[in-house]
Amino acid sequence: MSTTAACSPGLRSELGPLTPVRESAPPGGVLRAESGRTALAAPLPLDSPSSTFVDYFRCLDPIAPIERRGDLSTDEGYFRLGDAVCYGRCSGGASATYVDEPIANVAAAVSCDGGRVTLPFDLSEVVTNLRQELYRPSPLTLLQRLTSGRTPRSLYYALRPMLPVQVRKHLQKMRLNGWQRIAFPRWPIDVSVETLMRRVMALQLKSSGMRRLPFVWFWPEGAKSCAIMTHDVEGPSGRAFCEPLMDLDDRFGIRSAFQLVPDAGAEITNALAASLRRRGFEVNLHDLTHDGYLFQDQAKFGARAAQINQYARQLQCQGFRSGSMYREQQWYAAFEFSYDMSVPNAAHLEPQRGGCCTVMPYFVGKILELPLTTTQDYSLFHILEQYSTTLWKQQIEMLLAQNGLMSFITHPDYLREKRALTVYADLLARLRQLRDERRVWVALPGEVNEWWRSRSQMTVVPSGGSWRVEGPDSDRAKVAYAVLHDDSVTFEIDEAS
Ligand SMILES: [Zn+2]
Repeated sequence: MSTTAACSPGLRSELGPLTPVRESAPPGGVLRAESGRTALAAPLPLDSPSSTFVDYFRCLDPIAPIERRGDLSTDEGYFRLGDAVCYGRCSGGASATYVDEPIANVAAAVSCDGGRVTLPFDLSEVVTNLRQELYRPSPLTLLQRLTSGRTPRSLYYALRPMLPVQVRKHLQKMRLNGWQRIAFPRWPIDVSVETLMRRVMALQLKSSGMRRLPFVWFWPEGAKSCAIMTHDVEGPSGRAFCEPLMDLDDRFGIRSAFQLVPDAGAEITNALAASLRRRGFEVNLHDLTHDGYLFQDQAKFGARAAQINQYARQLQCQGFRSGSMYREQQWYAAFEFSYDMSVPNAAHLEPQRGGCCTVMPYFVGKILELPLTTTQDYSLFHILEQYSTTLWKQQIEMLLAQNGLMSFITHPDYLREKRALTVYADLLARLRQLRDERRVWVALPGEVNEWWRSRSQMTVVPSGGSWRVEGPDSDRAKVAYAVLHDDSVTFEIDEAS
């Protein structure tokens, strides 16, 4: 993969709220407490721009420190650094209120003087805004505004158990009308964080005069990419189909994670969890009641989070996914999980719009986020009406090009349909091929969590004229190099490391 850089010396399942991710996004960390949505936890302090860069690449502290200009605007908005879309405060050009307005390129305001890279924005603030969806969404259409209120949503969730899929998907399509015109995050995968990080890497290489910079490769044993398969179990028919689904996954040698709704009842949930684990599958929690209201009311959220934590302890679950991918990342401090899987990369087809704009895991406080980077089976079959793996395969290739995480959600409830199951088996065949022929690490979410946590403590150290990785689990790690070719950066793995 490559990127280019210029351095100019001197210069909510179905009918939920279609996110207002934020009407007015606050600058990183400071005004977040004033937004009235973070009373459960103090805002996390932002890292320095250099440490955000180091955390992403697990490289040494930059030889050319990364800093920000002191004259940033007070308002946040969209701007870009080359082809990397950014959101935050900036200098060097007026930012746009909405992403579909003309967006100024601030590349001319980058300075590489005096052995430091000075950016016309705060790298840490921009990356946090993107990952935690703290950017301003485009205005909702009239239909979306009409259907995103509390009354239609309450009505929908009250009726949902009685609505056949045919009716539900009709309502959802009405609700999602116009999703193809959402300009940001980009469909079908957004790589804004990756594009930005690689661009800053190019600036770092140029400014420091180094031809290549060593870092800890993203995945263990030099794997090119990583894939996880997860199944959200929604209702009785889904629970009944877990056994055949395990058989199918086993046939392709793909181990997967099942997310269970704890309110189904202790006896049912415990028995299912035990049978899944006996066969080597992973068990995580899926919401509390799956009523679409987990994050609706901040006052009630604390009590619900405490209940979820208790269920997690009882079932010994390390991971979590909310119902319908509803989320409020600023509230995650109330959870005791090790990792979460509730944030889509580009949530065009989810009831809560937005997206974390990255294809790599990232930390939200102490919780590791494993973002959803592909389209859910339900959306593929019932919203897009595609009974084929074409879109999944397109997303897989895009994720491979970024060395990113491929994460899939499929539901035993919906895979009972024969033609859906055929498509799913085709996906499993592709994953097996990727593992066997293209060095993709197919893992359980818990294994990815362990690896990423270990990697976050690794660093590269000089070793006999070369480099090696130091830190926990470092025997699985490889040194890689970011290499500058003209204005582009490519990654090379040192297989001998
Ligand atoms: Zn669900």
